[in-house]
Amino acid sequence: MAAEPGAVSVDMGAKTLRREDRVPIWNPKFETMPRRHVGRLQAERLKKIVAYASERVPFYNKKFAQARMSAADIDSLDDLKRLPFTEKSDLRDHYPFGLFAVPRDQIARIHGSSGTTGKPTVAGYTRADLDVWAEVMARALSMAGVTNQDRIHNAYGYGLFTGGLGVHIGADRIGASVVPISSGLTKRQVMLLEDIGATVLTCTPSYALVIAEAVDEQRIDVQRRFKLRLGIFGAEPWTENIRQEIEARLNLRALNIYGLAEIIGPGVAQECEHQNGMHIFEDLFLPEVIDPNTGEPLPFGEEGELVLTTLAKEAMPLIRYRTRDRTRLFTGPCACGRTLVRMDRILGRTDDMLTVRGVNVFPQVIEKTLLSFDEVEPHYQIVVDRPKNQLDTVEVVAEASPRLFQPTQTERREELRRTVENELAQTLGVSVDVKLAGPKTLERSEGKTRRIIDKRQLQ
Ligand code: ADP
Ligand code: ZN
Repeated sequence: MAAEPGAVSVDMGAKTLRREDRVPIWNPKFETMPRRHVGRLQAERLKKIVAYASERVPFYNKKFAQARMSAADIDSLDDLKRLPFTEKSDLRDHYPFGLFAVPRDQIARIHGSSGTTGKPTVAGYTRADLDVWAEVMARALSMAGVTNQDRIHNAYGYGLFTGGLGVHIGADRIGASVVPISSGLTKRQVMLLEDIGATVLTCTPSYALVIAEAVDEQRIDVQRRFKLRLGIFGAEPWTENIRQEIEARLNLRALNIYGLAEIIGPGVAQECEHQNGMHIFEDLFLPEVIDPNTGEPLPFGEEGELVLTTLAKEAMPLIRYRTRDRTRLFTGPCACGRTLVRMDRILGRTDDMLTVRGVNVFPQVIEKTLLSFDEVEPHYQIVVDRPKNQLDTVEVVAEASPRLFQPTQTERREELRRTVENELAQTLGVSVDVKLAGPKTLERSEGKTRRIIDKRQLQ
């Protein structure tokens, strides 16, 4: 049966927030829905989106036919696993518009992924998609505790990257004020944070650290001169240690936000004040975790690759999209009252995993180990090489506390270096060379930080 235009549009129960309102849960209907209803809603929407995609996107039409699947075969969520995956390479192969499901004149916006892992992928939005985006970002910001009384210093990059405009569109919807500063020119950011008195900071966690550094350099007393109380950070992996570091240095509560351009941008999932995983907006994004090697779905609680299906995307519906992000899903009541499934912080990308002399090495593990040492700063780089095409080598360069670079501290520095080296070898199961670098010697990033340099592919 032909899908009608707008067949995937959904009632989002939109409302306007009045000034005096405090809305802890933006959309209770969907955020506190009983679990059994969630499943039913997802199954219904899945059936619709599969029909819609196969009707409008030749790629899906062919793919579903090959898998001998059609919307008619979907009766419950159990049937999801019979649908084929969509890979990042499918997007690249159909670059730029090959997976669009609507005529070009219905595309209201185009964004792209930031291209961390190669050529950017392009994502399109219809007006209705932008509306969904505003809705999920309004939910996300509210979940973090942002209200129309807040002033958001939005230092995510504005542009093709979804971070800046994503936060912006959600802030507009809840009626918060936005300072659309984008990233960069850190000194000016610090000045404006003080002068404008933003209460919420949004940017990548690594840029939050850059701001913290600038604040230290200018010896600003954050408690007295800033009004920040909350930070919403995402777009790149970060660990609990980084969270603590940012919270302490900027005197705010740091919450995690997750998303990717292909699916919608930021607003796929958001951490609530309980800081215990990110709630996924499951009425719009259907999550699974799979074993990246076999493609088999894994039970709740097990770590694997996150796969997402858009349940209401018009311009570019994606079915079982392999995000390459590693995490786990867990259910169970959350103190915030939401019933939505939660995902763990991203434990890395499947394509970030380094295989070093046959051993799998995850950069997140290196970060965690490094930052368990007080005197190691949260700035580091991992360089993998294969000199003369023989054995793989890993060098970890980490900045250390300025104290250790005083002339009297050479020995202590060497001692620390060796301890870190041993600790890393123990945890990773492969030896690495550690270098401690002086303060501010490594490159700082305004957006996503590039921490891994794998020179092996260049040979
Ligand atoms: P890319 O970085 O792949 O070019 P995007 O700019 O769309 O594309 O970024 C999406 C990716 O950013 C996600 O797939 C994920 O790897 C990463 N990401 C986004 N939010 C988070 C987060 N909160 N924690 C860890 N990683 C994140
Ligand atoms: Zn919660």
